[in-house]
Order: sequence, then structure tokens, then C-alpha cells
Amino acid sequence: MKRLNSFLSGVWVEGEGEGSTLLNPTTGEALATCSTEGLDLREALRFSREQGGRSLAEMSFTERGALLVEMSKAIHAQRELLIELGQKNAGNTRGDAKFDIDGASHTLMHYGKLAETLGEGNILFDGEPEPVARGGRLVGQHVLVPRGGVAIHINAFNFPAWGLAEKAACSLLAGMPVLSKPATSTALMTHALVEAVAPIMPEGTLSLLCGRVGDLLDHVEWSDVIAFTGSADTGDKIRQHPQVLQSGAAVNIEADSLNAMILDSDAEDATYDAFIRHAHTEITQKSGQKCTAVRRLLVPRDRLDEVVEDLSERFGRTTVGDPTLDGVTMGPLSTLSQKTAALEGLAALQGHAKVVYGGPDGLLRAAEGADLTNGAFVTPTLLQTEGPCDANSPVHNLEVFGPVSTIIPFDGSAAEAVQQVRHGRGCLVSAIYADDRRFLQETILGLAAWNGRLVVIDEQVAEKALAPGLVTPQLLHGGPGRAGGGEELGGLRGMKLYQQRCALQGNGPKIARLIRG
Ligand code: NAP
Repeated sequence: MKRLNSFLSGVWVEGEGEGSTLLNPTTGEALATCSTEGLDLREALRFSREQGGRSLAEMSFTERGALLVEMSKAIHAQRELLIELGQKNAGNTRGDAKFDIDGASHTLMHYGKLAETLGEGNILFDGEPEPVARGGRLVGQHVLVPRGGVAIHINAFNFPAWGLAEKAACSLLAGMPVLSKPATSTALMTHALVEAVAPIMPEGTLSLLCGRVGDLLDHVEWSDVIAFTGSADTGDKIRQHPQVLQSGAAVNIEADSLNAMILDSDAEDATYDAFIRHAHTEITQKSGQKCTAVRRLLVPRDRLDEVVEDLSERFGRTTVGDPTLDGVTMGPLSTLSQKTAALEGLAALQGHAKVVYGGPDGLLRAAEGADLTNGAFVTPTLLQTEGPCDANSPVHNLEVFGPVSTIIPFDGSAAEAVQQVRHGRGCLVSAIYADDRRFLQETILGLAAWNGRLVVIDEQVAEKALAPGLVTPQLLHGGPGRAGGGEELGGLRGMKLYQQRCALQGNGPKIARLIRG
């Protein structure tokens, strides 16, 4: 069986002991093992900080951008292999795997091109010089420089390719070396991706830790950054880790989120169609295992029957099964423990909402090859509450990480829709499908502070509108409150986490000449 090594201190190294076993969630077959036991993570961080930091400090923004472009191309060159691994190890359909892998190469390419706007230097000016005394020569110039440490990236199981790439693009461009730790259960694809890019990486700039986190965080220093994506529980553990607290290292958390979609009573046909199309995509793509997938559907009472009927009709055309087979449009969850967690969550929601489509009792149509005992299959499931729920309801608090979403009927007013979405206490993304100006205004103003991204869809953009769960490198990814309070991507904004702002005060013209070289 394949053994996944880690890439630390510039070499591939193998952990001791049996370690963890990675499975195929369609069949239960064991695919690989990996272990971090016995690995010298203190030394790995030191090497990355010093050697990787030096390698990047010697590169201009243009050169770092060129590196990102090369990484993007190296990933694209291995696309077919990576798709195969996503199908085997993560339960991805071909489309799901492409979404992850192409998202990775696209994001790296985007930042590679963005670098061309930053010039030949490697320090960013932040605003104009500020006079601090009469005469004009004595000024303060704010600049952004890379933090001196290593960017420790801890990722969730659902995006083994994009998760590494979206974080690495921002930190490498900012000038911080990366140590990436994928979730153990789906690390096969990340491992192959790093194998593909490792030969082109300047020494120390990219490290990979395959397997459990071990004592990694015990060696964090103040100049490091920890960027985490995963559950709110793990995020809290990282925030409260004694060495993380004591060192004062920067922490960015992307956690779970009860994302919402709101339909207005008066939505035009095209707007309504986009709502149905997007709800179906968000519930079934990657089997609902996207942090940005919709969990709550706010539907006005007078359109309830129509929405249930149209969504059910679409779910009826969704074929669940072995994702390597033609015609299968939704695969299993990534692991059996995710299936157990999803079914437990679904049971908890059923105390507050009735099932209107699907449900816990197995599959509607299992495609050939699907092992229903050892496979982590969950059927697309739609629940519906009686009406609006109070803030403590699981409907607003429990993220079922699978193809499960709950319709919350409301009275059609913007005020009630806003109140319901706010009960989620901070989301990565919510979407409003409406054509009425007043409804749009009230919901946008009422929800902007509760969301990292707010998607507004009217009939003029409905046909081409992207489903709200699609994260693009141009726009902010992250959200307030329960969503973790973190910020990633958003073009150049994504570099800020990895940069220190310093006010250089003194002889303005001289400082400018020194910095520009
Ligand atoms: P998870 O269990 O929290 O694990 C996430 C990562 O943290 C994994 O790499 C895991 O490693 C690691 N980890 C576990 N315990 C740790 C500890 N004590 N210290 C440091 N790292 C530790 O989450 P998951 O099950 O992989 O992902 C699902 C969750 O992620 C969902 O709730 C989803 O909403 C959220 N998510 C959020 C975003 C976002 O951008 N906001 C994106 C994707 C997913 P092991 O795998 O080795 O245990």
C-alpha cells in the first residue's frame, strides 16, 4: 500500500509507526497510510522560516508571480492523475474533482498575474508619505513587508488541492514560506500535488506535513502565521493552544457556516430559476461538503409549494453512486465518519423540521458499484420547518456537512428574512434572489455585516450568475462570527495576513530611494 511521506526541510521524510489509513469512501478500500510520528517539526519550521524566508526575500514580486504561474502549470499538467485521486480518495465525481483542482491552478494563475501589477520590488507601499514635521522632508511612509516567520496552513478535508493553493498563493506572493498540513483523510491528492510542484520550488518555500498535526503548534513563534480552515471546534483549540497564545503568532480561522439563500415573493422567473438552480448545485456539488454550501433556504410562504416541487424534481434527476461511473452526478461523503456525523446532524434537525425530500433512510437510486455498507453515501435531503425558528434552534446552529439543507418559510418581508439569517451568527456567504428594489435594499443593508460575501441576483444577471458557493480569488473569502472571523483571498487583500505594516519615519526622499533600490 502507498505510504505518504512528508516534505520537510527540503527532503521527503517518512513518519514512524503505522499511522493513519486513507480509505476510498465509495468502497471502504484502504488506499494509503501516513504518519507524522517521530518527525522533527521544530527543525522543519526553523528550516522553512530561515531558508524559505531567505529564498523568497531574494525574489521580486515579479519573480514570485512567475513561480505561482509555474506552480499553476505544474498542477494542470497532473490534472488527470489528481482527478483520479479525488475520485478514489475523496468521493469526488469528475466534476467535483475538477472544481477543486482547476480552482487550485486558477487561483495560483490569478495571483501570478496580479504580481505583474506590483513591480520589480519586494516591499509594498501602503498609501502616500505623511508629513510629520514642517518642511516636507521629514515624513512617515507606511510599508508592508513579509512577516519574518513561516505560514502554517492547516486545511479541511473537502478541498485537498484548492485549500493548499489558495493559501499558498497569497503567502508566497507576500514573501512568506509555507508549511501546509492537509486533512489526513483526503491527503492523497495534496501529496501528489506537492510532488508535482516540489521540483520547481525554491528551497524551503513549500513544506508538506501528511498526517496528524503532532507537536507542530508547540514550536510556533511570534513571527509565524497560522491559517486554519476546518470546524469551529478545532479552530477554538488552535486559538487556545498555549504556545499559540504565548507566542502571539497571527491566527486566521475559516470555520463552518450556516449559509443562507433568500427568495423574494416577487422574484421574476429568471431570478426564481437561478434560485432553484443554485440551491440544487449548492446542495449536491461535492455532496454538500463545501463550507460555502447553502444550509438554510428562506422561502416566502406563497412560493413554498413551488420551491419544494421544483427542487424535488431536480433531486430526482441526481444520480448518487460510485463517482467513477458515467452518469453518476453525486458521490459519497469523504469518509464514513463524515457520514455518521451527517446522519446524526440530520436526526437532530428532524426534531425541528420535517423531511420533504430524501431523508436518512438510504438512497433513492444507487448506481452500479456503490457499496452501501462500506460506502459513505447520503442522499440529497431537503427539510422544512413550520415557519421562522428562534435563534437557539439547531436549524440556525447545526451545520450538517453533507447534501442537506432546510427550507424556512417566512412571511415575505425583508425584516423577517434578515432576522432569520442573522440567527446564524455570521456566515461566509448569503445570497438574495429578488427584483424588488426595496426588498433588496433592506436585505443588503441588514445582512452585509453578518456575511463575508453577499451575492445579489436579479433578473438582469440571473442567467449568468455564479452559484454563491463558488469562491473566486478576486473576492473576499471568510466571514464574521461563527464563520471564524477570518479573511482570505480578495485579490491583494489576501496578502495582508502575511505582511507586517511598518511606518518608516525619516528623510522621505532618501527612504524612497533606498527602498526602490
Ligand atoms: P476539522 O476536523 O476541524 O479538521 C481540519 C484540519 O485541522 C485538519 O487538517 C485536521 O487534521 C486539523 N486538526 C485536527 N485537530 C487539530 C488540532 N488539535 N490542532 C491543529 N489542527 C488540527 O475539519 P474537517 O472535518 O476537515 O472539515 C470540515 C469542516 O471544515 C466543516 O465544518 C466546514 O464547514 C469547515 N470548512 C470551512 C471552510 C472555510 O473556508 N470557512 C472551508 C472548508 C471547510 P486531521 O485531518 O489530521 O485530523
